[in-house]
Amino acid sequence: MQTSTCIFDRVRAIGFRLLFAAILAPGAAHAEWITRNEPIMGTRCAVELWSEDKTAGDAAITSVFDDMRRIDRLMSTWKEDTEISRVNREGGKHPVKISKELFDLLVTSVQYSELTHGAFDITYASVGYLYDFKKGIHPDQQAIDKALPGINFRHMVLNPEQHTVYFQRPGMRIDLGGIAKGYSVDRGIEILQKQGITRAMVNAGGDTRIIGDRFGKPWIVGIRDPDHEGKTFLRMPLKDTAFSTSGDYERYFDENGRRFHHIIDPKTGDSARKCRSVTIISGNATRTDALTKSVFVMGPEEGIKFIDTLPDVDAVAVAPDGKVTYSKNLAPPE
Ligand code: ADP
Ligand code: MG
Repeated sequence: MQTSTCIFDRVRAIGFRLLFAAILAPGAAHAEWITRNEPIMGTRCAVELWSEDKTAGDAAITSVFDDMRRIDRLMSTWKEDTEISRVNREGGKHPVKISKELFDLLVTSVQYSELTHGAFDITYASVGYLYDFKKGIHPDQQAIDKALPGINFRHMVLNPEQHTVYFQRPGMRIDLGGIAKGYSVDRGIEILQKQGITRAMVNAGGDTRIIGDRFGKPWIVGIRDPDHEGKTFLRMPLKDTAFSTSGDYERYFDENGRRFHHIIDPKTGDSARKCRSVTIISGNATRTDALTKSVFVMGPEEGIKFIDTLPDVDAVAVAPDGKVTYSKNLAPPE
């Protein structure tokens, strides 16, 4: 794939995964940008911001990372003592009372399931937990068939008065890995804005949001080539937007020429196989995070058609044969 530049019909652009540092446009006063990154939520998180006062800027970054750690303690399924782990242990036995914050994100998740006709579904985890990408383990067809009835957001009962969640099917589980990072990025931006920051980028894994520009110039970001880490196939200018990229190269293993990776098709319980990567651009990172999985599962053709029904969203999808499909408001490179 060759690197090319895509022109937008409006000022927006596209996602990346720690490619920022390599291809940032030189700012007017680059030396005074403050950048830090930390491993949180099982991934690398980064904040870059402009601050006249270095101490205040550093403190602002610390408050974003602190909040990301707080969200991780609430929403990680990797830790046993989180609210969500308790839901997964007890939610099939009785309604489990949870915090308003977690409840609200479950409601948002269900809204995306409804919008995407189930392509995005946090109950994917009913089968998803049977995979271990580090150890190269995937469930066989028999195990998938047994667990598959647990995938269906309609069987997760949310009670808005009591703030409880209850699973109507045995073996049901949920996982917010496909939306919580986007949510934490939106929270991070809010935290920075409250502290008077007007130029910043907050990133968690594949999810990023930026506010402001780089002194009259947009931020330049790239989408990585699915086959080459550190190589971009598309660069774009952007300001004041969120963008997420999901790829089959993030958490995966290959077995007999078949790739098993972390985006699961809720209909089959298998890894979604119609895309290599999907990038979504829209106003907030909760939205872009949820929609990358959705288009990934739908595949480029159906997925981009779906995105074209949403006036505030742009998308770029890469198919297994390398073909790149753009949503209608993007002008593809010549
Ligand atoms: P990152 O977490 O690095 O930003 P993604 O945004 O691509 O990566 O999210 C991938 C995660 O989404 C998976 O690890 C899993 O937790 C979750 N997920 C996988 N399939 C689905 C699905 N069909 N619906 C909702 N979430 C999903
Ligand atoms: Mg994400």
